[in-house]
Amino acid sequence: MELFAVPELPEIHEGDDLAAMIADRVDLRPDDVVCVASTVVSKAEGRAADLDEFPAGPRAKEIARNLEEVSGEEKDPRFAQAVLEESTDVVMEAPFVLTETRFGHVGVNAGIDRSNVPDHDLLLLPKRPSQSAERIHERLPESPPVIVTDTSGRSFRHGQRAVAIGWAGMPASRDWRGETDRDGHELQVTVESVVDELAGAANLVSGEGDDGTPVVVVRDWAFGDHGGSDNMFREMRGDFVRQALRDWEYE
Ligand code: GDP
Ligand code: MN
Ligand code: MN
Ligand code: MN
Repeated sequence: MELFAVPELPEIHEGDDLAAMIADRVDLRPDDVVCVASTVVSKAEGRAADLDEFPAGPRAKEIARNLEEVSGEEKDPRFAQAVLEESTDVVMEAPFVLTETRFGHVGVNAGIDRSNVPDHDLLLLPKRPSQSAERIHERLPESPPVIVTDTSGRSFRHGQRAVAIGWAGMPASRDWRGETDRDGHELQVTVESVVDELAGAANLVSGEGDDGTPVVVVRDWAFGDHGGSDNMFREMRGDFVRQALRDWEYE
């Protein structure tokens, strides 16, 4: 397989037609996978915002005060308000705010970005990233699968990497259960989150800084002959780590 960045994409603005911009710059094949950084999907969808738009309510003020106490740094309660408005559940509130977004992804600060956002304070994640992926997928010539990615931290390990927050035109996972390993043992549990793996690979190419390469094409990779599923975000029931966090307090 091969990955390459779509060349010469400009700064993206609200209303830009990302699919047309990609199609102008690369000849796509139906078995390509097109990985798009959420940053540019958000910009195209007008998800840049300013702190003034989020007057802080009591809960946001409480969260900001709590964070200030823990960090010794000044925290803007309007930012906490923006995070709350993007979220359905607060998983942790100190020493950082970890929430579940409205579309099910759990991330620090609801994935709200303060880098690569000219002229605005904030960039919110796309409202429904899988719907964004679907729209791009349908509009691209050859309709290749599309993955919307975002850089995200992870539990237990240092460092960040991209994950898939939305996808269309392919299943999220390939299911190896029932297939056999080299010793003939039947695989019992392996459901491989291929959209995350592809997102991580694409992020190696797109970078995190000023490279200006938010769209990466994966070529000559095949899903193969496996079952698939779109299960990605765990439900509270069955998410034992999250359940353990429910009664946890930062000290
Ligand atoms: P995120 O992981 O989705 O939050 O996106 P990043 O902020 O890490 O940016 C990913 C890549 O997209 C980097 O190469 C950035 O330089 C690039 N990028 C961000 N915004 C734009 C834009 O408006 N136009 C172009 N061409 N590149 C951008
Ligand atoms: Mn960013
Ligand atoms: Mn981001
Ligand atoms: Mn990134």
